[in-house]
Amino acid sequence: MNCPRSLEPVDVEALVSGDHPLLAADAAEHASSCLECGRRLEAFRQLDVWLDGAEPDAFPADLRASIERLRAFSRREAKSLKLWRTPLAVAAALIAGSALLLAVPALSASENLDLLGALAGSFGAEVRVAAAWPVLLWRSLPAAVSSFSALAARERAAAAGAILLLIPLGWWFARLAARRRASR
Ligand SMILES: [Zn+2]
Repeated sequence: MNCPRSLEPVDVEALVSGDHPLLAADAAEHASSCLECGRRLEAFRQLDVWLDGAEPDAFPADLRASIERLRAFSRREAKSLKLWRTPLAVAAALIAGSALLLAVPALSASENLDLLGALAGSFGAEVRVAAAWPVLLWRSLPAAVSSFSALAARERAAAAGAILLLIPLGWWFARLAARRRASR
């Protein structure tokens, strides 16, 4: 068991789901010729089959998502520009959007949502999906919306702080989205 170039988990996941590997283009060929990587691929495949066939109440409904969320990225994955492209674009969009929001004097909650929607509409499909997260978060927290809007109307600096605090959360969501895309 000493494969010189062990396949990255994200590539093994891609192979199992029938997608193109992200990091090693020849991952499928390698797995068929390397005993160690072939075994890992088979183990992933069996896990996938088990997850698909398992009784719905055999495990919590969000188990699969939790597994995806908990698996750490390897050093090579972390360095891969492919996986970071979307989060970087989202972070840039968030910063630009936040700056724009702060430049516009006191908006109501619904005006804020319209502005975010318009912003999102001007980006490509991928970024549009990722850029929609503040709106989704916003809509899921109606109480927070009104209090935030009231805060924004009163105190611009506090609003800036609140928006900046949302950026790491957005980064995390974007990372999760990239991971889901990568493993699909
Ligand atoms: Zn190998």
